[in-house]
Amino acid sequence: MAKKKMPNIAGRFGPRYGSTLRKRWNLIMIKKTSLYECPQCMHKKLEWVSVGIWRCRKCGFTVAGGAYEPFLSRKVR
Ligand SMILES: [Zn+2]
Repeated sequence: MAKKKMPNIAGRFGPRYGSTLRKRWNLIMIKKTSLYECPQCMHKKLEWVSVGIWRCRKCGFTVAGGAYEPFLSRKVR
């Protein structure tokens, strides 16, 4: 049975930069590109604009938060 894999968008780097660095980059990119819940209208439409800036696609609400996640989590190494 095939093992379920994380989407590997760091594949374009090929063998460069080392596996640990590619894995970390991959994790950050997944967090960055996914949509989050808007603190104002509660829709899952909060998207990444720039480092630390998040904007809601539905109501246009802009919020400052974590660099690659809207809310800071302690899990990121
Ligand atoms: Zn909103």
